[in-house]
Amino acid sequence: MAEQAPLYDVAIVGLGPTGAVLANLLGAAGRSVLVLEKETGVFPLPRAIHFDGEVLRVLQSVGLREQVLAIARPGTQGMHFVNEAGQTLLVRGGTAALGPHGGANNYYFHQPELEAVLRAGLARHPQVDVRLGHELTGIAPHADRVALQVRSAGASATLQARYVVGCDGARSPVRQHMRSPLVDLGLCQPWLVFDVILQQPVDLPGHTVQHCDPRRPMTYCNVVGARRRWEIMVLPGDDRDALVQPETLWRLVAPWVTPGQAQLERAAIYTFHSVIAEGWRAGRLLLAGDACHQTPPFLGQGMCAGIRDAANLAWKLDAVLAGRAPEALLDTYESERKPHVRALIELAVRLGGIIQTTDPAEAAARDARFRAGGPEIFELPPQLLGPGAFDPTAPAVAGRPFPQPRLRDGRLLDELLGRRSAVIGRSAALQAAAPATAERWRRSGAIVIDQPEPAIDAWLDAHGAQAVVLRPDRYIVGVARTGAELDRISQYLPVAP
Ligand SMILES: Cc1cc2nc3c(=O)[nH]c(=O)nc-3n(C[C@H](O)[C@H](O)[C@H](O)COP(=O)(O)OP(=O)(O)OC[C@H]3O[C@@H](n4cnc5c(N)ncnc54)[C@H](O)[C@@H]3O)c2cc1C
Repeated sequence: MAEQAPLYDVAIVGLGPTGAVLANLLGAAGRSVLVLEKETGVFPLPRAIHFDGEVLRVLQSVGLREQVLAIARPGTQGMHFVNEAGQTLLVRGGTAALGPHGGANNYYFHQPELEAVLRAGLARHPQVDVRLGHELTGIAPHADRVALQVRSAGASATLQARYVVGCDGARSPVRQHMRSPLVDLGLCQPWLVFDVILQQPVDLPGHTVQHCDPRRPMTYCNVVGARRRWEIMVLPGDDRDALVQPETLWRLVAPWVTPGQAQLERAAIYTFHSVIAEGWRAGRLLLAGDACHQTPPFLGQGMCAGIRDAANLAWKLDAVLAGRAPEALLDTYESERKPHVRALIELAVRLGGIIQTTDPAEAAARDARFRAGGPEIFELPPQLLGPGAFDPTAPAVAGRPFPQPRLRDGRLLDELLGRRSAVIGRSAALQAAAPATAERWRRSGAIVIDQPEPAIDAWLDAHGAQAVVLRPDRYIVGVARTGAELDRISQYLPVAP
């Protein structure tokens, strides 16, 4: 069997947002990719509605920035916390200012539309073989490849790839095969998600509202276009079947909208989980997205985390497959990504603890804290990688994303850099590097820029540096003041032996 089947570089199991972004990244790198998706269409249930500026930057890196901006709106209006009497307790202001990644800090969108854009993007890469209606049913790892048992239309076949990435969601068959245990971070709560499309102008806020009503905690979101969402906590004693009946749903949102003003798009009960897997790699098998972490959606970061996984993993898989890096580079994927994912989930759990308060006395105490200006727990953890493929001696700067300024010619920085490593510095500093270092830059395929633009010059000044080395995912390898420092940090660039 397997001898006859083509050997793909990477098989991706699951074509949700994580798998679709990973397939776009690997496709753009020229890798042969098999995508297995058991469903025949995009998952229609409403889920993610928010992504952040770094996610837009990843989508930009696969040439889909304009397509994504066409279906998203920048989120500039922040979040208000309102008590059961309708009084505003706290306002988290939004901002219309540009963020560090060359766009807004936050965007709102409809997940099925984003997934359609990502799938259309795959059509640009003939070597990405997307097989819808194909379910992974078995995995057999070998020393040099992995055999995959696949079922489609009642028939079974064996396909093979050098690496397999399980982007197969919360129940992840790939994770189960790897026997990677899930660690529970403490929140498991059902919520009803109710999406409507307004049929006429309705006086609803442009910002997100957290209704901190202990009788029924709720969140209201202005999504995009005429789409609006209510997330409604399911309480003990609720009859779940009755809860999703239209008459109950409209009664719950009656203070804001009526059936005559809006069309019910969909209502579904989700159980919000807070789990993280131990073991994101087992030999040639890897996990990404919900397959290895799930967060309550209070920060709107679950899908974002999966897309960051894809960006972290794609260039490493490409470097290993090209022979530019040892397989051990793949171990830095979990060590780099997990601390940030864990910090995000822990923050979402704490925020959930505040939003989900149902005890009236506790709620009153919480409201008093809000009025006094706290609890201020809403700053997202900084984008900082855990230990991995960058200079550990400069923790204030290495392992963090490099900003994406606009250049004098109007382009964004990444358009100049492309999907490769970069060495950017003042010419005297670059010339002070050893000839072997310059040779390493050439062999790694890095772009070398010796006359930085003013925006980058200012960044170098602010960091007391003469040069900076970047990875293909735009995270900082390290900064250098001298040729010797540049020699040292350039060792992190993967090169062919
Ligand atoms: C109510 C709600 C609101 C949310 N809001 C946000 C938000 O605002 N922002 C945000 O960033 N995130 C949000 N999220 C989280 C986000 O939706 C998920 O994190 C994201 O969809 C996960 O993407 P994924 O690709 O990893 O997994 P999934 O989207 O679950 O995709 C997994 C895919 O694998 C396929 N699959 C599974 N098993 C097999 C198999 N054996 N063979 C082949 N295919 C298989 C499935 O069919 C599926 O298509 C929210 C989630 C919920 C529930």
